[in-house]
Amino acid sequence: MASFLRRPQGLGAALLLAGSALANAQSGGMNVDDPRLARTVTERPFEVMIDRRACGTRGVYVQVLGAGADDLEDAQAGSGYLVWVDGKARVLIDMGPGSALRFEESGADFKDLIAVAFSQLHVEHSADLPAFLQGAALLRRKEDLPIFGPSDVEKTLGLKTWTRRLLGPNGAYPHLADFFSPFSQGGFEVLPEEVNSTGRKPWRGFRRDGIALSAIATDHGPGTSLAWRVDVGDVGITFTGDTGNRRQTVKTLAEGSTIIVGHHAVPENVRGFARDEHMPPSQLAKLAEEADATMLILSHRTPRTRGRELQSRREIGTLFKGAVLFANDLECWEP
Ligand SMILES: [Zn+2]
Repeated sequence: MASFLRRPQGLGAALLLAGSALANAQSGGMNVDDPRLARTVTERPFEVMIDRRACGTRGVYVQVLGAGADDLEDAQAGSGYLVWVDGKARVLIDMGPGSALRFEESGADFKDLIAVAFSQLHVEHSADLPAFLQGAALLRRKEDLPIFGPSDVEKTLGLKTWTRRLLGPNGAYPHLADFFSPFSQGGFEVLPEEVNSTGRKPWRGFRRDGIALSAIATDHGPGTSLAWRVDVGDVGITFTGDTGNRRQTVKTLAEGSTIIVGHHAVPENVRGFARDEHMPPSQLAKLAEEADATMLILSHRTPRTRGRELQSRREIGTLFKGAVLFANDLECWEP
């Protein structure tokens, strides 16, 4: 019985065993022949829900890995989006909690990713980075992986400091520090690169395989965030991230986008602090209309906006004439 509980080999084994229930089983905490396991472990492969047909195999698609934010009651993952090109997932925006599982369910292959971009490093946008890397150790990826994220601003950690504190040799997961070395036993190096989180000028620092990434600094309450844009041919997809957009910088990046993925965290009547952190529906609509987009996808949905979709749609409909979609995990949209 339990034939798939063989002891794995190499770096993958070390990573897999670290912190896993299997470590207990192998070290005598629980014997794999324990009759209590017989009821739960079978010879059948895991019955996972993988839907490789959600996105088409030709053209450009945006898939929602996480349509939620940080609450524990909506059954949606935290922020995460994939851009698919001709059947391959090429760019991952954000790695919020649950996005690693949704990535598996989407049928995406981690080896196909050419870049990861973080809008910010709050938990609901970044928590799954260790999970992605631990899983990637078993995949034999060969190509280095650039990960882009914000720079240090006052008391907010930039990407390099954050990854060092979390995944450095003295960090919380020191066994993953190896991924940040050119001699990584995982087969590829993770290359953190910071994008300036201040100023009004767009960053246009990455292009590969006909896919271009750009970003602009935005305001998010007293802090900052980054809006990201992915361009493939004549398709442009802008991800607003979390922003009150008081400085109106997102408009510069979004101009001419086909799709706007907007964070719908607050309702129209929001006042005070929350309005400085997020755009209400009318502002998202205005942004989409001015960008001349054909589709506005409302994601990063929260308890404040859930149940008010009709109201949000009404507000948006008076200002934006394109398609308005309320996102759910794993939905895939083409322009
Ligand atoms: Zn957020």
